[in-house]
Amino acid sequence: MSGTVIVGGGQAGFQVAASLREAGYADPVVLLGDEPGLPYQRPPLSKAYLAGKTDAEGLNLRPASYLAEHRILHRPETRAARIERDARRLILADGESLGYDHLVLATGARNRALPVPGADFAGVRQLRGLADADHLKEALAAAERVVVVGAGFIGLEFAAVAAARGLAVTVVEAAARPMARAVSAETGAFFTAAHAGWGVRFVFGAGVEAILGEAGRATGIRLAGGTELRADLVLVGIGVVPNAELAAEAGLAVADGIRVDATLSTDDPAISALGDCARFPSPFAQGLTPDGSVRIESVQNAIDQARCVAGRLAGRPAAYGAVPWFWSDQGRHKLQIAGLSGADDASVPRGSGDAFSVFRFRNGTLRAVESVNRAGDHMIARRLLAAGTPLSPEQAADPGFDLKALASARA
Ligand code: FAD
Repeated sequence: MSGTVIVGGGQAGFQVAASLREAGYADPVVLLGDEPGLPYQRPPLSKAYLAGKTDAEGLNLRPASYLAEHRILHRPETRAARIERDARRLILADGESLGYDHLVLATGARNRALPVPGADFAGVRQLRGLADADHLKEALAAAERVVVVGAGFIGLEFAAVAAARGLAVTVVEAAARPMARAVSAETGAFFTAAHAGWGVRFVFGAGVEAILGEAGRATGIRLAGGTELRADLVLVGIGVVPNAELAAEAGLAVADGIRVDATLSTDDPAISALGDCARFPSPFAQGLTPDGSVRIESVQNAIDQARCVAGRLAGRPAAYGAVPWFWSDQGRHKLQIAGLSGADDASVPRGSGDAFSVFRFRNGTLRAVESVNRAGDHMIARRLLAAGTPLSPEQAADPGFDLKALASARA
């Protein structure tokens, strides 16, 4: 049969299949995923779905009829085990062999495990998939005290939902502030205060030494230094590890993600990789990482990279250069980020109170904009960054300076 075989039925894998058909690709498309059910979106798992505001069907990216109409052969609960590159064959966990003309790796990432004693106790949970979210919803209904390990996006979104249910929530974070890898100190301080206002307690600069338990069930955690916090539910959100083993075992280059070139091709021209599992060279990462390559975990990245891969397979090769953007909903606040920034970038605030943006500059050049409840700034920032329109820190800081006009003038 051959055609294109896609490993991973998540946001990126599904979008490759859909975009191949939109681009007029006529050969067979097989979409393999090891989870049950239809391809679904993950962002609501820590937001509306966890809070009971949408059901599982509302998470599906498309109905089953869409897959059938577009001749996308979706095979859920099907795990790819090995790639035989010389023969262009994918071997599945049950031994079945699938030939391919092109193989797409969209294997995503899995949660990083907390390497301390007691991490396997009942009541210690993580959040990546629908099954995790279902377990957490049940656990939240019975819990009284929650400890969240890690003040990243997922930890904080979870904390906001748990606090809104009236639970006692403590967030423990090794760094000195929340979301330290992704946002400025200013944005971090805003969200620390917002969560504190919802009753969330923070312990920063604290490492977890052990999960405490009785009869195999978590009863709390012990921090380095000996402080103990009681909890009947512990949510661990300390980042992810890319699912790159399939590629590594096939001899493809892997370094915190499957290495791809600017067109998202691996060093084997018959194999592409994208989404959470792929590390790619990005104009937006220049000066941010040692070699200008980056791995991005976001819906935007998965979708835009899928369109890039599908375009190439349909005969229109192009380098991937979309502006990275991201959002996080915490309580009633919406955070939106355009571009990529580093810890040393200068921060220029614009706006105040509950609605502001922080413009991030490196050597005087705009690199990212964090917007809190300022969707207009976010859309403008994406346009400025896409066009490379110069903006000075003074202009960003001046409330009278017309950012919209600047973005439109260059559009
Ligand atoms: P995934 O969605 O992880 O899909 C990969 C799939 O491949 C998985 O189903 C996996 O099981 C499967 N797979 C792996 N190995 C194999 C194999 N060998 N054989 C078969 N199948 C395999 N992003 C945002 O931009 N905004 C948000 O607000 C946001 N919120 C999030 C909230 C949560 C709780 C989570 C978990 C993520 C969130 N993200 C958010 C990130 C976003 O969901 C991911 O970046 C996106 O899902 C990446 O898509 P992907 O297809 O690369 O990976």
